[in-house]
This record gives sequence, C-alpha cells and structure tokens, in this order.
Amino acid sequence: MGIVVQKYGGSSVADAAGVKRVAQRIINTKKLGHEVVVVVSAMGDTTDELIDLANEVSPLPPARELDMLLTAGERISMAVLAMAIQNLGHEARSFTGSQAGVITDDAHGKAKIIDVTPGRIQAAVDEGAIAIVAGFQGVSQTTKDITTLGRGGSDTTAVALAVALGAEVCEIYSDVDGIFTADPRIEPTARKVPRISYEETLEMAAQGAKILHLRCVEYARRYDMPIHVRSSFSEKEGTWVVKAEDVAQEDHMEAAIITGVAHDRSQAKITVVGVPDKPGEAAALFRAVADAQINIDMIVQNVSAAATSLTDISFTLPRGEGQTAMTALAGLQDAIGFESLQYDDSVGKVSIVGAGMSSAPGISARFFEALSDAGVNIEMISTSEIRVSVVVAESQVVDAVNAAHAAFDLGSDEIEAVVYGGTGR
Ligand code: ASP
Ligand code: MG
Repeated sequence: MGIVVQKYGGSSVADAAGVKRVAQRIINTKKLGHEVVVVVSAMGDTTDELIDLANEVSPLPPARELDMLLTAGERISMAVLAMAIQNLGHEARSFTGSQAGVITDDAHGKAKIIDVTPGRIQAAVDEGAIAIVAGFQGVSQTTKDITTLGRGGSDTTAVALAVALGAEVCEIYSDVDGIFTADPRIEPTARKVPRISYEETLEMAAQGAKILHLRCVEYARRYDMPIHVRSSFSEKEGTWVVKAEDVAQEDHMEAAIITGVAHDRSQAKITVVGVPDKPGEAAALFRAVADAQINIDMIVQNVSAAATSLTDISFTLPRGEGQTAMTALAGLQDAIGFESLQYDDSVGKVSIVGAGMSSAPGISARFFEALSDAGVNIEMISTSEIRVSVVVAESQVVDAVNAAHAAFDLGSDEIEAVVYGGTGR
C-alpha cells in the first residue's frame, strides 16, 4: 500500500485530548499497512490569538516577523502530536515546512508554493516512521526567510506534499463529515455530497463555502490528486473531490442539477453614483481599484438615464479592503466627475453551484423565484457556466440559502450533518 497524506485542522487538535485522539487515528491508518504523512494546523484558535498578540505590540506588524510568529502555531501542534504518537509506541518525527522541503516565493502572508522537495519526509517514511509536517508554511527560495501560505493554508501544504510524494490520496480532516449541500450551521437539512468535481469544489470554495482552501483545490485539480474530506470525530466516509469524469452519475439524485448552495458574508459593495456615460470612465475607476491591489468580484452597471446620461456602477470586494478602495476612488471624483460614492458592508452573497446546470434551462428562473417567494431582494447577479450568484442584504442570507436549498430539492429527510467542534472563528 502506498502513502496516505492526512491533514488535521485546528479544531481536530484543539487540546491535549484532541491530539491524543488524532494520534490514535493516525496509528490506526498505519496499522492498516499505509505509510502515513501527516500535516497539522495550529491548535484551536492559536493563529487568531497570535495575530491578536502581534496587533497588541504593533499596529502594523512587519510581514516577515508576523510569518515567523504565526508558523510557531503549527510547530507547537506538530511536536505535541509526534510526542503523543511516540507515547503510544510508534515512531513519529516532526518537521517544519522548511525541513519538509516546501519552497515558496517571498510573498509573506500569501506565499505560493513553487517547489516541494520532500527528501527528509520520504526518508522518515522509508524508515518506518510517521512524518508530521507543520502546515501553512514554507521557506522562500530567494530570501530564505520563513513564509506562510495565507489563512487556511495547511490544506494546500497537504495536497502539495501528497503530489510530491506520489500519495494515493490526500485526506483532509475537519470537524464536519464532508462537503455538504449547504453550510449545516444555517441549513439543518443539508446533505453530504458523496463525490464532487474539482471544478464544483472550486466554485463552492470561491463563493464562500469554508470547506477547503481554494488554492489546495486548484493544486489538486492540476495534478489530479483525489481529496477525501472527512471528520476526525467520526469514522464515516466523507466527500471525495475528484475529476468530473469520476463523479459517477448515480451519485447525483435524479433532479440534482445543483450540487450545493454557498454563502459568503465577507464582502462589501461600493456604488459609484452618477458616472458620466462615456468611454474610459469605467476603465479609470477600476484601474484605480486595481492599482490599490484590490480584487473585485461582481460588477453591475446600470443603464444610463436618458435625460442625464449618467449611470451608476456597483461592484463587490472583500470587506477588509473597503476603506482602501473608497479612498482610491474618492481621489478620482474631480477628474471623472461622478456624483458620489456609497459603501455598504451589510451585504452577503448566495450562490448555487452545479455542473448539471450548464445543460439545464430555467435554473436562474427557479433560483430567483425561490428568492422572491422568500421575500429576498436581489441586488446584483453574476454567473459562470456552473454557478449563479446573487448579492442580497446580509440579514437575508440565511433565508436565501434556505429558499435555494429547498427549491432545488437538496434537503435530506434525516438530519445528517453534525458539527463536532470548532469555534467557527
Ligand atoms: N493555522 C492556520 C490558520 O488558522 C493555517 C490553517 O489552519 O490551515 O489559518
Ligand atoms: Mg486554523
């Protein structure tokens, strides 16, 4: 049997009891005859606590030092987990990201993996040991400084290592049993999806479903590494993320054109009111936002009023960047001559995702009718081949998710979803 890479999230190793439970689980996998490489996240909310600490001593912590600080969280869990495994009589060795050969660029806080040279991990496994690797971190190829991959980055560490080691599967353990048709915290009838394609998972993750780190899915898709998303708190089979061709037809219930409903409360909306309707104005506005390094999501431009020839342009962006974008745009007011700027951060995005929709007519109509029946007003709309997203008032996000979930018959009669742990922080 080959190598299995297992990644355990912070909620699975939140305390000593959790670490011991995970240690036993790893040993059980090893006893089945697999070679096991483990990637571990920081215990519980450690990463958030370290960020709070940094902010207490500096309003703007230097990126290099912040990365050095945050990687300590994963170093604690890897060492503690290795101790717990050894205490149960099995050989285990922990490695930092750098020791494990995770080579990145030098973008602190959002470093990209450019190479993985897992020689020491392979050697440890060849000698019969369980290798434990600190997630979410690497070392810059150019500066040799320690880097982090961005929040939630341990998933990406796990997939990258699985690819580099030629593993059979990358198992991602968290506090829910897999990927659900909606977030079980707000949709009690959510059902576990047995198999889902990389493409659908990417759309779900990009639209706010906090299932997997987006980059980990991109990585897995590029190298065709199957991911098994499951809970460390139960023995249940989870969700397999695989190639679209491998999502067996019988996995989808007859009417399931939609695989899931995702929601996102991390966005804000800016409206530029009264923009002169002539060439070059939208270009100038979005150039200013782009130059401020802000990633925008949806854009809507209204038809200009015939009398005034003025139009409104709205777009969404991450809430954390709202102030920066407003400042950048305000600087253009005189040059462009728009009337005013409006900022709204009490919005949310709700998306339906499903590979089946590309060949089924009437999906948007059914979605919008369900929203209308639930009294939810749509503020913006965007689509891709396998997704329809709407922006609604934040106070209506739950209603919108519930309505869409019901409209596409995604619910299960039994309550399937159990949320075992985690503070949701
Ligand atoms: N500990 C890091 C975080 O909380 C990385 C991870 O959990 O994957 O973002
Ligand atoms: Mg974490």
